[in-house]
Amino acid sequence: MLARVLSQRRVLQLQRLARNGKLTLLCLFLTVIVLRGNLGAGRFGTPEKDLDDIRDTISYFRKRHEPRRVLEEASAKGGERGSGVSVDNGDNNYAEFDIRKILKDEDDGVPEFTRDLSKPYTLGPTITNWDEQRGEWLKNNLDYPNFLGPNKPRVLLVTGSSPKPCENPVGDHYLLKSIKNKIDYCRVHGIEIFYNMALLDAEMSGFWAKLPLIRKLLLSHPEVEFLWWMDSDAMFTDMAFELPWERYKDRNFVMHGWDEMVYDDKNWIGLNTGSFLLRNCQWSLDILDTWAPMGPKGKTREDAGALLTRELKDRPVFEADDQSAMVYILGSQKEKWGDKVYLESKYYLHGYWGILVDKYEEMMDNYHPGYGDHRWPLVTHFVGCKPCGKFGDYPVERCLKQMDRAFNFGDNQILQMYGFTHRSLASRRVKRTRNETSNPLEDMSDHLGLLHPSYKAIKVPST
Ligand code: UDP
Ligand code: MN
Repeated sequence: MLARVLSQRRVLQLQRLARNGKLTLLCLFLTVIVLRGNLGAGRFGTPEKDLDDIRDTISYFRKRHEPRRVLEEASAKGGERGSGVSVDNGDNNYAEFDIRKILKDEDDGVPEFTRDLSKPYTLGPTITNWDEQRGEWLKNNLDYPNFLGPNKPRVLLVTGSSPKPCENPVGDHYLLKSIKNKIDYCRVHGIEIFYNMALLDAEMSGFWAKLPLIRKLLLSHPEVEFLWWMDSDAMFTDMAFELPWERYKDRNFVMHGWDEMVYDDKNWIGLNTGSFLLRNCQWSLDILDTWAPMGPKGKTREDAGALLTRELKDRPVFEADDQSAMVYILGSQKEKWGDKVYLESKYYLHGYWGILVDKYEEMMDNYHPGYGDHRWPLVTHFVGCKPCGKFGDYPVERCLKQMDRAFNFGDNQILQMYGFTHRSLASRRVKRTRNETSNPLEDMSDHLGLLHPSYKAIKVPST
């Protein structure tokens, strides 16, 4: 979270510098080139990784020449698709194509929707009887039950990223790894998944974008009992841990955090909004309405930021963020919301990466998946790394290296079902963990629960 402040400051600095002259732009350009060079040459990795990268690069160049060969063969034969296509004008070269050519924000002449600025911001028309409306719908649509078993609510995991490509050359690759990781966890646990790339409300940009999205999804999916928001920079590191749904049967909002830090200290990091559960009910629509007014960008968000810094413990000076706003709401209106909020700290619904990533090997030596806590964390959240942005608050090398390790740590639990594992947490390469036999189904008994989600608690090896 400090992340947000620092990176914001850096952006402001950058803007100031940019105004100071074109030289800065040139430097920025050179930095990007150097960064690309470093990554390409694998200078960030171990010797093993370097070898991998060199090998990949060689095969890339080899492959690059194949399409040209195919085209040349085609034109030699004549009359086939591809004949007559010029191969020398550079049009077919993805590596050199300037993506900005097609990424201009189209202006279709239709003015942007603007709300009445004299009225306070709202997420949408007031709804007061959602529980009745939804209850009626569920009664009439028994094919879409909101519970898949006695203690197994239907869950929709929601995550997303900006509509634009990342601001650095590797960011989209890390977003891909992160969504692959979430797809794996959700498939194993019978959870549906939604990836959003549209900014539904221009005023609610950045970390506020989740609010209009969440409201829209709750109202459009009455069959969903719990919506699970997860940041794009968070990854599942325990593929076997099933949430303790029973514990939340009388709660509507579950976040990682500590009661004392929120209600007594009003500390802005007393809870985290990077991974949370919200029940589909009127109470949740009400708390979203209470949460949203600090979000609209510009003066509203700036002024709210000043209030939050004044009222919350240890909060640096910066615009209002969704996490501080939630601490403020709970801290100042505990009687109104407190009894339906569960601040979870028995396992890592969100786990700060800084305290987890260096211990993965130790965990592998001593424990096994299924605990979700410090022994084998459910989620590792790369707060402050900004893998899709230009500037983060931690060294890029540490962030990317550790994101790879977290990904591989989680991925091993998936690959092991199929008889493979990563050679090390630093390696993209895999090795076999068991030999194939001519009776593949006989070896599957241990993995059946994971391969065929039966919508009940996943079988975890006994401790
Ligand atoms: N996000 C989004 N659209 C955007 C910008 C951000 O959906 O245009 C989401 C994205 O999933 C991101 C989250 O908002 O992970 C919160 O931002 P971030 O993780 O960078 O904040 P931090 O956890 O570092 O405080
Ligand atoms: Mn995050």
